Amino acid sequence: MSKSKGKIVIAGGGIGGVSAAMGLANRGYQVEVLEQAPAFGEIGAGIQIGPNAFHAMDYLGVGEQARAKAVYIDKLVMMDGISGEEVAHIDVGDSFRRRFGNPYAVIHRADLHSVFLDACRSHPNVTLINNQVVTGYANTANGAKVVTASGEQFEGDAVIGADGVRSRIRAQMTGGDELRLSGHVAYRAVLKIEEMPEDLRWNAATLWAGPKCHMVHYPLQGWKTFNLVATFVTDVTHVGANEAGTREEVLDRFGHVVPRARKLLEIPKTWRRWVLGDRDPIETWIDGRVVLLGDAAHPTHQYFAQGACMAMEDSVMLSHQLEAHGGDFAAAFADYQAARLVRAYRVVISSRLIGKHIYHPEGAERLLRNAVMGAKTQTDWCDGLQWLYGGTGLSQADLKSAA
Ligand SMILES: Cc1cc2nc3c(=O)[nH]c(=O)nc-3n(C[C@H](O)[C@H](O)[C@H](O)COP(=O)(O)OP(=O)(O)OC[C@H]3O[C@@H](n4cnc5c(N)ncnc54)[C@H](O)[C@@H]3O)c2cc1C
Repeated sequence: MSKSKGKIVIAGGGIGGVSAAMGLANRGYQVEVLEQAPAFGEIGAGIQIGPNAFHAMDYLGVGEQARAKAVYIDKLVMMDGISGEEVAHIDVGDSFRRRFGNPYAVIHRADLHSVFLDACRSHPNVTLINNQVVTGYANTANGAKVVTASGEQFEGDAVIGADGVRSRIRAQMTGGDELRLSGHVAYRAVLKIEEMPEDLRWNAATLWAGPKCHMVHYPLQGWKTFNLVATFVTDVTHVGANEAGTREEVLDRFGHVVPRARKLLEIPKTWRRWVLGDRDPIETWIDGRVVLLGDAAHPTHQYFAQGACMAMEDSVMLSHQLEAHGGDFAAAFADYQAARLVRAYRVVISSRLIGKHIYHPEGAERLLRNAVMGAKTQTDWCDGLQWLYGGTGLSQADLKSAA
């Protein structure tokens, strides 16, 4: 192991925090990750990961471990929730994999997170500390520090704010920018494979798009379970995560959707619900030796299925820039931000548009969507996604030289 290049404190131990820890530890930094929860872990169920995430995970040294836990679907399918007909699909089989150099997959969130956690736990440069609620930060003479609710201070050469959509680090940096309600609630449940109707046990990430609502399902955990997410337009005025949800509410909001899809919503005995939000783009993620990463920098709606992928890409770019600049934090942070800002915000803005104009339209807009999407060829789809799935924002040469 090379001599330590310095110490970095990370606020937040989600996928962003633990992936950054691995990237930096592999580059010779000592890393402390502070997590507010009593234990490191992930709530929720499935997550989709594009080829760009696999490029990132390879760079971060966990690609093979993640591949072993993923389910490799054949297609991304969009169904019309009113007619019950297929609108379009993207084939993510061999030709897609060859084009983008990696697969499109689905994985249980806890499995993805645990791959990074295990790597962190066995890395001599990483210290994981739970039960620490970061309340703020300060730049110091030689670096930066965070303060936690317990009154302790954790100081390093730099601080990374990876504390999610309600980031305290971002709030202090920006003076408190508004969380923007999407106007949507997502209900999540996991079905056992035998609970899933046989006619819908597709090896696909399937999306049923109904006016003002949509549902997504895909297999997980070696086909033992199915992930089910039902999202609808709402007038709820707060943002919330992992609240208890009622069966009646979700069934009521999908009353207009074809029975073949709607019947899925009758299966779960319990639901958890997320009231979703994002934030408008900001022009800087840096304050001296403090920098934002993941949802703290660019929280997004889930409609592009890319928030966690972007957090892992951030970790790649930050590690790469620190290495490239020989530990010059100011130069590395500036180049990290320059490389990440447009790409990450393209996902944020695209996700807003996808939610509104692809997943939820009604009337003539629904017919327009079906006609335009239905006319696309597989080449059209792949060409349109090249900017996203073709890499991580880092050149292929840089990605390979580090792996
Ligand atoms: C319904 C839904 C579906 C999604 N589907 C996908 C998908 O298919 N593909 C995809 O790529 N992304 C998806 N996402 C987005 C993805 O979940 C996020 O973008 C990703 O989790 C961001 O990781 P993060 O580490 O930046 O933030 P988080 O996951 O929010 O982690 C932040 C961590 O910091 C901790 N923390 C917060 N505040 C403090 C504090 N003050 N002190 C200490 N610790 C703190 C939290 O406890 C948490 O552990 C989805 C999101 C939702 C809501």
